[in-house]
Amino acid sequence: MKAITILGSTGSIGTQTLDIVTHHPDQFRVVGLAAGSNVNLLAEQIRTFKPEIVALGNESKLSELQEALAKLSEGIASSPYQPKILVGQEGICEVARYGDAQSVVTGIVGCAGLLPTIAAIEAGKDIALANKETLIAGAPVVLPLVKKHGVKLLPADSEHSAIFQCLQGVCDGGLRRIILTASGGSFRDLPVEQLSSVTVKDALKHPNWSMGQKITIDSATLMNKGLEVIEAHYLFNLDYDQIDIVIHPQSIIHSLIEVQDTSVLAQLGWADMRLPLLYALSWPERIYTDWQQLDLVKAGDLTFREPDHQKYPCMQLAYAAGKAGGLMPAVLNAANEQVVALFLSEKIGFLDIPRLIETVCDRFSSQNTAEPSLDDIINADQWARQAVFAALRKN
Ligand code: NAD
Ligand code: MG
Repeated sequence: MKAITILGSTGSIGTQTLDIVTHHPDQFRVVGLAAGSNVNLLAEQIRTFKPEIVALGNESKLSELQEALAKLSEGIASSPYQPKILVGQEGICEVARYGDAQSVVTGIVGCAGLLPTIAAIEAGKDIALANKETLIAGAPVVLPLVKKHGVKLLPADSEHSAIFQCLQGVCDGGLRRIILTASGGSFRDLPVEQLSSVTVKDALKHPNWSMGQKITIDSATLMNKGLEVIEAHYLFNLDYDQIDIVIHPQSIIHSLIEVQDTSVLAQLGWADMRLPLLYALSWPERIYTDWQQLDLVKAGDLTFREPDHQKYPCMQLAYAAGKAGGLMPAVLNAANEQVVALFLSEKIGFLDIPRLIETVCDRFSSQNTAEPSLDDIINADQWARQAVFAALRKN
């Protein structure tokens, strides 16, 4: 039985992780849950999974959470069960470091996950990493902490899980390059001329995956793949010229590795995030599931094409930020978070996304630092968010 804590429990990653727990009650026990502001779902999760500790990011909703919990308990004979309930960022960090949880699933979206992830690492917890933004912005601080505390950083992003799975049994020095697959996002079949007029609603229709809003927009701009290139650089210690991207519209091959002798290994499966999440929690073991098995005939044709860098400049922006290193990935990431929020609230158009990110990264380049501290990273993140508004005012 493995004790786990889930940060971002009410989101797409969080609910799919809890689905794993529901189906494997003999394998997993929930110690802590943390979420932003969806109090009704959080209350239901508390009642079902009985965590010892809970945190609600949005402090102003605490009384609503208590009401929702009281409502759910009506008519149930009083039980001695009472979770500890905390609020705010510090509360989430406390949940991350709490008790005997061995693994913490990081399902908070964005750089808001950075301090809780650090708290979990410092408390000796292994990390099932879904929250890629944390590693992209915070790697210069996070990676040394992972080493210092001897914890494991296990990828839950589907591509990185695929690479990690392919790497099992590959000797040190055996890896030559990796190939990240990309579905192509909502607009993969739309001519480039039509991108200027796409709506938020269009962008949120992902062809293969059902995910949170931010990552769905990142998939439509292909920034998600760019962020994953940086994530792969840090997770697998690869140079950027060892990381390639290929468009694979069917999302059956989740990524591939090439070893020194040119042999290529791939991991396949239906598009279901529970699989990489389960492996990040069960590694090095494999747990039997009753999930639908892959049927290659049903999966049909698997096709591949070059990514279109003209149509999707975000990939190159991410490669450039990754190669610049230091604080630049944090700046790219924070600028992206800010512009995606502006796009989602219909304040800017789809094509403004790469344009604004590029402006912000260009403005930052002379201030980059090779070995940043945590404060440097947090300051760069804040700077980039402000710089997006400054760039908007200039236009
Ligand atoms: P989501 O929007 O569905 O859920 C986000 C969760 O984080 C929610 O529980 C929300 O309450 C919580 N949250 C948001 N802001 C918070 C804050 N400031 N403080 C505390 N909690 C906060 O997002 P998601 O799609 O589940 O994605 C989560 C992370 O996993 C992202 O980093 C994403 O890139 C990564 N990821 C997701 C998928 C997927 O299939 N959804 C796949 C790969 C990677
Ligand atoms: Mg992914």
